[in-house]
Amino acid sequence: MVALIGLKKGSKFLHIICLDLFERDLYEIICVEMMLTVFGSVALDTIRTPTKVLKDVLGGAATFAGISSSFFVNTGLIAVIGKDFPKKYHGILDSRLNLDGLSIKNGKTFRYDGKYDKTLSTRTTLRTELNVLENFHPVVPEQYKKTQFVYLANNDPDQNIALIKEFDNVKFSMCDTIEFWISTKRASVIKMFKHVDAVVINDEEARLLTKESNLIKCAKKIMNLGTKYVVIKKGQHGSLLFFEDVIFPSAGLPLENVVDPTGAGDSFAGAMIGCIASKKKTDLATIKKSMIYGNVMGSFAVQGYGLEGLLRIKKIDIKKRIALYEKITRF
Ligand code: AMP
Repeated sequence: MVALIGLKKGSKFLHIICLDLFERDLYEIICVEMMLTVFGSVALDTIRTPTKVLKDVLGGAATFAGISSSFFVNTGLIAVIGKDFPKKYHGILDSRLNLDGLSIKNGKTFRYDGKYDKTLSTRTTLRTELNVLENFHPVVPEQYKKTQFVYLANNDPDQNIALIKEFDNVKFSMCDTIEFWISTKRASVIKMFKHVDAVVINDEEARLLTKESNLIKCAKKIMNLGTKYVVIKKGQHGSLLFFEDVIFPSAGLPLENVVDPTGAGDSFAGAMIGCIASKKKTDLATIKKSMIYGNVMGSFAVQGYGLEGLLRIKKIDIKKRIALYEKITRF
């Protein structure tokens, strides 16, 4: 079935899909409007895994999240890069995302350097170089301001707060954070949570922020900071959704061939909000379903180095993996 909504001039977004979990429908949607804005880091990552070291490869929280969400909806990126950003990486972003919100500044692109242990379950940050990200004042393009769905990927929480205020008509917003910001700007991270509907955070960071070890206690504390939904990501072990007194656990897809977990959390969150935006619904059932898409997109991300895992898949691969997920979690 093809639902023709309209046609954007010179659109790169003719391939947008809306997948409906469990009903197993795959609709091709030709999208006109900008559905989702993703703001956050675009990076040159150095990633040290036990099997390969990647040097200055395309990464960043907004990159993973935006490319993941682009499988579901037309996604606009707001980010900053330096003059050193390779053309081929610009081309990759351009092929998947609207880049009207991408600023190119004098200076070096944000850089991240991290090393995984043998089990790929622990990552140590060796270096975070903010470069052009420091003191960045993002400008929201006019056509982005009407997007009803906004994702604030890992980024300076003060910039995130300033940015979300620029949107006229937000129906659902979500943010993430990372150890670096909790350690350097804790008060701003807490303030940021009041400005969004949902916080997506990994288990270690939830513990660091709340100083609780039990994840239910962590989630309650985060909800008390002013957000309605909390999603705690537990890496390969899946994730937990909290809303009022509801707890919804979703399993990670068991995988035999994991090579690089970088960006899995961002791919998870991008798929979640992309899925929610594609349905234009924010009820609890939709949010639960979106987490399944999050797990599935995260599972692709970890099977390739850097962005490879996301870049090599097609919509049909997502559909097949959703069916597999459904099969193995049925009881
Ligand atoms: P994840 O593996 O989901 O935690 O995301 C890793 C991505 O986040 C990498 O591509 C990094 O470039 C990016 N990243 C790491 N640290 C930061 C930070 N302090 N602020 C923004 N993005 C970051």
